[in-house]
Amino acid sequence: MSPLSQPLERVFDLTPSQKANLKRLGLATVGDLLFYFPARYEDFSSPISISTVETGTTATIQGTIAKIGTKKMFGKGPIPMVEAEIKDPSGTMRAIWFNQPSMARAFKVGQLATFSGKVHANKKGSRYFVNPAFTAKNTNEQERIIDVDGMVRPMPVYTESRGLSSHWFQANIETILPLAQNEPEILPPEILKKYHLPDFRRAIKAIHKPEERAWAEGARKRFAFEEIFLIQLSRIRDKKLREAEPAYTIPPAHDRLHELAGRLPFALTGAQQKSVRQILEDFSRPHPMARLLEGDVGSGKTLVAVLASLAVHSAGYQVAYMAPTEILARQHFEEFCKHLQYFRATMGLLTSSECRKFPSKVDPSGSTHIAKSQLLSWVKDGTIDILVGTHAIIQKSVAFKNLSLVIVDEQHRFGVGQRSKLAQKGKTPHFLSMTATPIPRTLALTLYGDLALSLLDEMPPGRTRPITKIVPPTKRAATYETIRAVIASGGQMFVICPKIETKEDDSARSAEIKAVKDEYQRLTTEIFPEFRLAMLHGKMKPKEKEEIVQAFRDKKIDILVSTSVIEVGIDIPNASIIIIEGADRFGLASLHQFRGRVGRAGQESYCFLFTDSKNQKTLERLQALEKARNGFELAEYDLTLRGAGELSGSSQWGISDIGMEALKNIKMVEAAREEARNLIEEDIELKKYPSLAERIRQVEQQELHFE
Ligand code: ADP
Ligand code: MG
Repeated sequence: MSPLSQPLERVFDLTPSQKANLKRLGLATVGDLLFYFPARYEDFSSPISISTVETGTTATIQGTIAKIGTKKMFGKGPIPMVEAEIKDPSGTMRAIWFNQPSMARAFKVGQLATFSGKVHANKKGSRYFVNPAFTAKNTNEQERIIDVDGMVRPMPVYTESRGLSSHWFQANIETILPLAQNEPEILPPEILKKYHLPDFRRAIKAIHKPEERAWAEGARKRFAFEEIFLIQLSRIRDKKLREAEPAYTIPPAHDRLHELAGRLPFALTGAQQKSVRQILEDFSRPHPMARLLEGDVGSGKTLVAVLASLAVHSAGYQVAYMAPTEILARQHFEEFCKHLQYFRATMGLLTSSECRKFPSKVDPSGSTHIAKSQLLSWVKDGTIDILVGTHAIIQKSVAFKNLSLVIVDEQHRFGVGQRSKLAQKGKTPHFLSMTATPIPRTLALTLYGDLALSLLDEMPPGRTRPITKIVPPTKRAATYETIRAVIASGGQMFVICPKIETKEDDSARSAEIKAVKDEYQRLTTEIFPEFRLAMLHGKMKPKEKEEIVQAFRDKKIDILVSTSVIEVGIDIPNASIIIIEGADRFGLASLHQFRGRVGRAGQESYCFLFTDSKNQKTLERLQALEKARNGFELAEYDLTLRGAGELSGSSQWGISDIGMEALKNIKMVEAAREEARNLIEEDIELKKYPSLAERIRQVEQQELHFE
């Protein structure tokens, strides 16, 4: 066994809580810990005076310890807390450490120390650091960052998790660093040389224990390049393999497509026509299509999918359409039925809570509930032409007769493994991914570089952007009055409750549900007693959710209070207002998705971003929403504005913080892509680089694991 694949608990003494936290961070082996990189580096070289320290910023100060002591805070149980008071000639402030009782012994009163970290303030405006980095004379901590020759080194700061402080990571990673020195270099030497990247051994040391900031930066660049390069290699190789496979050829069925378009109450946009044309061209080639249809909310992706499906149905083959939620699957099923009923297509709906078939024998214009076993046998014998569903359609029991087109809506909601499982239900079917989440160009190149792209960059005519306003606490009351008038005259409203981020997923979910219940209560009793309200959250049964959405659609509900579950796809044409509570806690792309839920019938509509934040940067970020013309602009803006670790994307896309950082650099992404392409072109099995091939295999497995 390589030293890096040893389990952490074999190498370190770990408390049960540390074990649990490491597991939650996905850190199982020595190698995993080695790749847990610092979030940033503290620089103790330029302290400022305490009186000038601003809340919300990251600051470094130097002062003497005036007081130090232990306290107990009460949360779910007592939490030990160490508090120090620091004094310099201009003033005082505090430093607080949670769950690190040993900090009480790290300092003595009167000792000179330097602290660095994010500055918080309590309601009275008293400022404090939480778990700051520090250097102090005469402690072990000092030895770590000040060299014998007195040179100040940048100190790595790791993202903390309960029981695992930044110091814990620093100390323990240092002990395993020597093990990394036997690891093979996976990047080809020519590439290292060409882009001036440090080799693995130097880089791994420099990222954790840099002597100078520039070393750390060089190392980060290398690991970022490596991550992007590995993803690209895997994608480009898949693409090559796919291009060698045979596929169903599907004739364009122009007459029927025109007939369908002719029945619409509107004309297709130019972008829709172009996308359909591109798909039909792919269908005529002898290899399977792999195409991404990217379009802003409301740009009409579903209809493109319907038209593509009609061509496939006309050729006598089956289509599978997978949506991320039951509500959406149901909605899309209905849209397919509406458009395709004139073409003798039989549609099926499969979710874990219901199965339906269209047309119903009794009522040929409607669908009917059927048993799952019946539906499955009809999918298998080809009676069902188009099957719409949630991930329930990738279950083992679902088999098709001749599946030749797979469509995945909001594809980033599914893992790589789920997508390929669906594709495996056919014999090399054509593949169409759809997404409404605009992502920055560099990220798209990285993740979807192997896919052909169709862009719906044109909105149906008559769509107006919702009027977007930031609402601080002082304007709340007046805003509620504006809203009252709109709803009184027949408008409908969504209220989105804030995302709650705690470390434990479970408690976050229940906190979110509580937030929804509280807000529902408050709005019902105090603000809008005259209107009909309902709530929607993740703990509700699918059937309950569907009933509520239906009631809202039927205008039996005026105000729907919800968690962010409505983020994707819901189509309620009459809704014209959306309130987002705690708007500062969402990424711009999500906020943009939310606002796409209103004004869908072309009526005047509003998006109110409620926030208590006074932070200038946060407000600036929200202002981007007031101005931006489309989601793509916003996505780019989000990427440049937010720092590493704050990007809404990183966990969502399965890219590390360091990789996300790299995405700000289009040149690097393009270089990694170019090199990956050359390498695969030359040697698809990477025979010359066995350790690189092995690493790609690991990355691909991790990706599957990620789900
Ligand atoms: P999204 O791209 O967000 O999935 P949808 O497919 O849900 O968008 O379409 C949003 C709405 O726009 C639907 O009600 C659909 O019927 C309508 N729509 C689609 N194409 C057009 C068009 N060319 N002109 C007018 N309305 C359209
Ligand atoms: Mg959609």
